[in-house]
Amino acid sequence: MQVVLIKEDKYTYDIHSLYKAFYPTEDVKVILENDLDKIDEVKRLNSDITVSSVDVSVSKNELKKSIYLDLSAKTGKNLPWGNLTGIRPTRIVMNLIEEEKSDDEIVQYMKDTYCVSDEKIALSLKIAHREKEILKCIDYKNGYSLYLGIPFCPTTCLYCSFTSYPIGAFSNIVDDYITCLEKEIDYVAENFKDKTLDTVYIGGGTPTTLEPHQLERLIGYLKSKLDFSKVKEFTVESGRPDSITRDKLKTMKKMGVTRISVNPQTMRDETLKLIGRRHTVSQLIDAYNMAREEGFDNINMDIILGLPGEGASDVAYTMEEIKKLDPDDLTVHSLAIKRGSKLAEIMELAKHRGKESASGSFDDNKDILDDIKNTEEMMEIALKGARDMGLEPYYLYRQKNISGNFENTGYARKGKAGIYNILINEEVQSIVALGAGTVTKRVYGYDGRIERCDNVKDVKLYMEQIDEMIDRKRKLFL
Ligand code: SF4
Repeated sequence: MQVVLIKEDKYTYDIHSLYKAFYPTEDVKVILENDLDKIDEVKRLNSDITVSSVDVSVSKNELKKSIYLDLSAKTGKNLPWGNLTGIRPTRIVMNLIEEEKSDDEIVQYMKDTYCVSDEKIALSLKIAHREKEILKCIDYKNGYSLYLGIPFCPTTCLYCSFTSYPIGAFSNIVDDYITCLEKEIDYVAENFKDKTLDTVYIGGGTPTTLEPHQLERLIGYLKSKLDFSKVKEFTVESGRPDSITRDKLKTMKKMGVTRISVNPQTMRDETLKLIGRRHTVSQLIDAYNMAREEGFDNINMDIILGLPGEGASDVAYTMEEIKKLDPDDLTVHSLAIKRGSKLAEIMELAKHRGKESASGSFDDNKDILDDIKNTEEMMEIALKGARDMGLEPYYLYRQKNISGNFENTGYARKGKAGIYNILINEEVQSIVALGAGTVTKRVYGYDGRIERCDNVKDVKLYMEQIDEMIDRKRKLFL
């Protein structure tokens, strides 16, 4: 365990995140140095402790840089994103571009202030310039985007921390759930009639767990209430191939959906089984081909690097198989161990019980902790694979506890980049979010201030409290 002592209660989150980035498998505690009881308790409960002190009297940037240089010297590691702990590194670069700094000045600043590697600086610059170019085509400052969450999935994936209920056990509430979404749509129709709707994104969960008539009902209602004439992009995540049917694709096409995602995560059947996705690679290929046959010309695919048991050769295999399908957009995720996921639970238990496995999905002899890794080489293979398909990076974000301390990157063909992804990631536009577990964000254009309100996660509570959910939005947009 790493114990970091501080004099004042300041920058705790940043200190914790940086230590965790250098010591991903160790517990990290940041404690006030005069909290002797807490220090004694930690010492009593843990035998293997390394204690260090940091000086929080300096500025945040100075503090993070000094911790980074110190830990880098101690561990011999350089982190690709240096001491950046935030999830939106491209935002910093965007702001510098807006301040009319030259590329050379930005490179120097990112190096000097955050110790970011040359590769990641080049990547952020490229993405920030591309994002600015893509956003030029919409008057995003005066518009808004809409997100609808469908919190049902065929099964729950091992790494999932989203709001997701197995459709099998919840199919009897789906119609009532749609009725609640319709109430929220009524609120949007009434309160945003003077604003331009730029993009619509139905995500989840897995929206394609809805039956064709339910999809038609929901999208039909949306289009009857809101002005779609200026909508630049209408995405429906169809992530799980085991939820896709020709009828659903036909319905979505007929209703004007312009972009879908069909997500493999990996092209290895053994891994799919291990991560609880319960679909096969051949189902994925069939669903993808069906979507092409039905005329979808903007299909996104998601893959995850660092899945249990996978190494560089598996990533290379996945990329070769994806190349044969030739998607328009590819999002490369680095596995993140998210709180609330089964994976986090298993890792926690494994830590406490040694090699004992906590899930029926795993071979009892497998030590999952040793089986999860993401490397520079794997990132390179994915990047090269995307480039071979003519896809270029267009958005990027990081997550807490992300494998290898890397990032998630979206690549797309020219003209196929997901505009919603940029809007939400760069936080440049208000996003009104409907459905259980969604978060609405109000972006105040003039001073960059952002305020949020959330809908409760529990689907039944959401339905019971639908009026309160709408009221929260009313207050946010007063
Ligand atoms: S498909 Fe997505 S939302 Fe559904 S369980 Fe898997 S990761 Fe979670």
